[in-house]
Amino acid sequence: MKVSSFPIFTLKGVPSEAEVPSHQLMIKSGMIRKLSSGQYSWYPLGYKVVKKIEEVIRQELNNIGCREILMPTVQPAELWQDSDRWDKYGPELLRFKDRNNRDFCLGPTFEEVITDLVKNDVSSYKNLPINLFQISSKFRDEIRPRFGVMRAREFIMKDAYSFHESSICLDKTYELYKTAYKRIFERLMLDYTIVDADSGNIGGDVSHEFHIIADIGEDDLLLDKNMNGMNIEIAKVKYSEHDLSKLIKKSGLTHKKGIEVGHIFKLGQKYSTKMGASVTSNKSEVIDMFMGCYGIGVTRIVAAAIEQNYDDKGIIWPSSLSPFNAAIIEIDGNKNKNVRSLAQKLYDIMQSKKIDVILDDRQVTFGNKSKDWELIGVPNIFIIGKKESEEQLITFQRRADNKKEFVKLDDIEKLLEKLSI
Ligand code: ATP
Ligand code: MG
Repeated sequence: MKVSSFPIFTLKGVPSEAEVPSHQLMIKSGMIRKLSSGQYSWYPLGYKVVKKIEEVIRQELNNIGCREILMPTVQPAELWQDSDRWDKYGPELLRFKDRNNRDFCLGPTFEEVITDLVKNDVSSYKNLPINLFQISSKFRDEIRPRFGVMRAREFIMKDAYSFHESSICLDKTYELYKTAYKRIFERLMLDYTIVDADSGNIGGDVSHEFHIIADIGEDDLLLDKNMNGMNIEIAKVKYSEHDLSKLIKKSGLTHKKGIEVGHIFKLGQKYSTKMGASVTSNKSEVIDMFMGCYGIGVTRIVAAAIEQNYDDKGIIWPSSLSPFNAAIIEIDGNKNKNVRSLAQKLYDIMQSKKIDVILDDRQVTFGNKSKDWELIGVPNIFIIGKKESEEQLITFQRRADNKKEFVKLDDIEKLLEKLSI
């Protein structure tokens, strides 16, 4: 890709409402722009990161037999009345009427829609278990949208749902998701932890959250030496204040802030009983299906990943998430043929190796280009100037420590192999 056909819009300053580093850097590097409170548009640079996360999630869910679907964003009120959540969910549920005066809401989560979908097509235990997921926009009218896409009103969530004939089968599947989630966060190269959690608005009695540890996290976690522990919300339900402080002292728990990026729930029969989602068992009994649901905050991960990976110059993407694996900066390529042809040579080599590379062919100064790519945070930066091009030399800058070295064009393939990009 070349910048001439991949518009980037970096900024010098940031709006004062961007309080945390990830929000500032996402605006500054031109990944997102605000539409209205808690709503953001994604430019190609930001959306490529979203797509990388989605791809890892897709692969790992497919590996455990979970298949992708897509459900409508606008949901009829009747389903929420069936599950008793129309009144209980509160003002976060954005409600409205259509031209026929029927009540609808924008989907904040999809337990009702999926239960309705599956119950109409499944009547026997022989069809179970079933595992389905979607990656789509959700809307929650958050009381305090903040930190950009971290707590947005409209955001992308992956939500998966499982249906079973028994709680034993649900338990087994729940563990499969837990393992798949671990693989997802490991592949995304994020520092995360898993905690016991409260099931909140979604329901059920067992749930675990996946958190990215960061000072600006909005959740309080109690963790032991091995980073196992619980969300303080659930600790407060389980223990009195006195017992909790005793427990913290005795077990040497530490208090850390976390950003919730995933949440898995054993729903049991909560929705199936209310919505009449039953099957015939192998003993010919009618049983309400056992369900699980499994969420990941796709767009929140982008912000959380930045909170773990930045310096004073900008973002430092882990290779798993970077919008590009390499950036080539040509200095005055429009004026200097040698520069342009060496840049093109390097670009062709990388393309032939299927490296996701961007060549900065804009007519702006080297200083501007260099600042932009440091800000955008591509891990490997290759610089080609007049003097170097005469000797077929390339400057290689590793974004992680900003160290620079000269590399001969002849040695570039060796370097690319070493970098394994
Ligand atoms: P929170 O406690 O942060 O409000 P939640 O527990 O209400 O989140 P879930 O219903 O568990 O959220 O949704 C699944 C995932 O969707 C969360 O783990 C989180 O990563 C993501 N998510 C939830 N709300 C938002 C939001 N307002 N903006 C961005 N991502 C969100
Ligand atoms: Mg949650």
